[in-house]
Amino acid sequence: MYELPLKDAKILTANGHRYYLFEPPHTHENYANRPNVYPKGGLNIYKAAGSNPKFPSKLLSTIFTEVNALMTAISDYGKKIDDWSMQSAFVQNGWRPDDESQGIAYVKNIKAVIDGNAMFKKLGFPPNLEDEAKGELGRRGDPRREAFRDQWANSPGWSQASMKALFDIVDKVYAPRGFNPHATGLVFDLDFMIGYEAGPSVAHETPVEMKPNRNGAALQSALGMWLNLHAMKFHFDSYDTSAEIWHMEYRKP
Ligand SMILES: [Zn+2]
Repeated sequence: MYELPLKDAKILTANGHRYYLFEPPHTHENYANRPNVYPKGGLNIYKAAGSNPKFPSKLLSTIFTEVNALMTAISDYGKKIDDWSMQSAFVQNGWRPDDESQGIAYVKNIKAVIDGNAMFKKLGFPPNLEDEAKGELGRRGDPRREAFRDQWANSPGWSQASMKALFDIVDKVYAPRGFNPHATGLVFDLDFMIGYEAGPSVAHETPVEMKPNRNGAALQSALGMWLNLHAMKFHFDSYDTSAEIWHMEYRKP
């Protein structure tokens, strides 16, 4: 059983659920062997350990055994230490198509980042680039993506530096069409509950719901700590645990 340094953690109780709360851990990036092939078939709804009928998730059935092993280990350890972040975890957001909806969501995410930052907001989304942003841009370094970035940097008000600052944030939140790990059938997200301190000896709980601003708190939960340390032993990892600790990509052993 893969364990955690429990003696370093505080214990919170919210709504009768018990949570360990750790100091913020060191995070890591992992860009090796990211899934990038879109399957032609073999997708099925995952129904084993950690599945949630309310959020049916399609995955390539070739990884069901590995997902089940990961989710069983999480649930078993969660029961052993009595931690609700681990016991409440479930699989969602498995396969999703790399279609029109992906491009629309990409534009929406860019706009949300722009709206959240005074400097970007002043510069605005270059209107002539909306259609292009919805198209297939591919992964980082793809000529289509580089051309798009250059056009953006050359738009009125923008520069290479401000474009880069914007997309450094966007790239951690959402991928454009043409490179979507979730379209490979080898990737899913975990949702789980976390406890947090709302004041002196007041604890609350909230679902993580893949909200970027909850990643820091998620990392300090028992499940966040455990994924950061141990998920790779089950052949799953995030590309960057400081951005999305919940995002699990199957990495071929
Ligand atoms: Zn994800």
